[in-house]
Amino acid sequence: MLNIKKFVCNMFQENCYVVSDETNECVIIDCGARSETERNGIADYIRDNGLKPRHLLCTHAHIDHNFGNDFIFTTYGLRPTLHKADVCLYERLSEQAVYFTGSGYESSVKQPGTLLEDGDTVAFGCHEFKIISTPGHSPGSVFLYCSDEKTAFSGDTLFRMSMGRTDLEGGDYDRIIDSLTRITSALPEDTVVYPGHGPKTSIRDEKLMNPFF
Ligand SMILES: [Zn+2]
Ligand SMILES: [Zn+2]
Repeated sequence: MLNIKKFVCNMFQENCYVVSDETNECVIIDCGARSETERNGIADYIRDNGLKPRHLLCTHAHIDHNFGNDFIFTTYGLRPTLHKADVCLYERLSEQAVYFTGSGYESSVKQPGTLLEDGDTVAFGCHEFKIISTPGHSPGSVFLYCSDEKTAFSGDTLFRMSMGRTDLEGGDYDRIIDSLTRITSALPEDTVVYPGHGPKTSIRDEKLMNPFF
């Protein structure tokens, strides 16, 4: 069983998730925690539930999903694990911060952790996430998919009744449509999907109601 706790972070209302199982190991997905309050909320949850963070997983390297990297590295010693095609974006997080927020962001976590490819798996506790490459919103955007629990984290590729923008650097409309077509036919319809912004959804609901399909 997975326990999924959502923390809404920063001015972009980004969803950071802490996902744990019965072993009390956990992964942190997309830590966008920017303020002290946001960071304390996540740290308190992990401490109060006796969780042991094993990975910081990053669905893609946009700044709104990475404001909290320093905090996670300092607190738990974890560097962000991300797809290798987003390393270029990762190296320019501070430029992204200036562009999107008007103020800089100096990360001390210059080097990412493990670089991922399509089909890789990331294990924690008695579960694992399969990495499914879904380029389009960014070149290295991924779905994190736990087949045992029919649960997926979609980053900014798929939102409830919508999809991610493709007008940012490295974005590609045709590729995101291709990714969405592929992912919705590959995953079971009762897969619950947790996006990088907004409420959760399911593959079935998106196939029925998402205007982009
Ligand atoms: Zn994004
Ligand atoms: Zn985002």
